[in-house]
Amino acid sequence: MTTLALAATLLVGPVEPTIVSRDQWGAKAHLPGAIPHTIERLTIHHTGVLSNKSRSLEDKLRGLQLFSQREDKLANGKTKPAWVDVPYHFYISIDGRIGEGREWYFAGDTNTEYNPTGHLLIVVEGEFGQEEPTPEELSSLKQLTTYCIWRWRLTSDKIESHKDYSKQTDCPGKALYEFLPALRSHVKQVLGK
Ligand SMILES: [Zn+2]
Repeated sequence: MTTLALAATLLVGPVEPTIVSRDQWGAKAHLPGAIPHTIERLTIHHTGVLSNKSRSLEDKLRGLQLFSQREDKLANGKTKPAWVDVPYHFYISIDGRIGEGREWYFAGDTNTEYNPTGHLLIVVEGEFGQEEPTPEELSSLKQLTTYCIWRWRLTSDKIESHKDYSKQTDCPGKALYEFLPALRSHVKQVLGK
């Protein structure tokens, strides 16, 4: 990137990605008890379930919200409590479309031991211990992460993943975890920080 292009980006910000809003996917309101927080870092997840090309982003988000807002059994036999909303702030589906999740000014949720307060949570659809992220997903993740780092005045060294904070998970899976250095470099190149 030229110095001039970098200066322009710093002035007006990077291109804002197209994000399907909560209204657009038909979100229900969050339940009472959401905890306000201030964004200090950005943390990447995978859904941990094999990707599904046949359902729309909107449909997946409605399903995730239904699961999130009720008490339910997890695959490992544990019970999760009813959360106030979907656990993540942004959801990237297999086709690269981006959906708005929990309102960013409320802390997210997790089934593991780390405290997500202060974390902006982005989830990418797939089980990246078993499959590769699609080019569309990686392209959207680059664009969204760059935008968010700029929007919340963070730096590329604040980009981490779930397993960097929790020993109880392999999230975001090997293939996506290996992409993180390239993601940080991309953000640093575009934003200069
Ligand atoms: Zn995770």
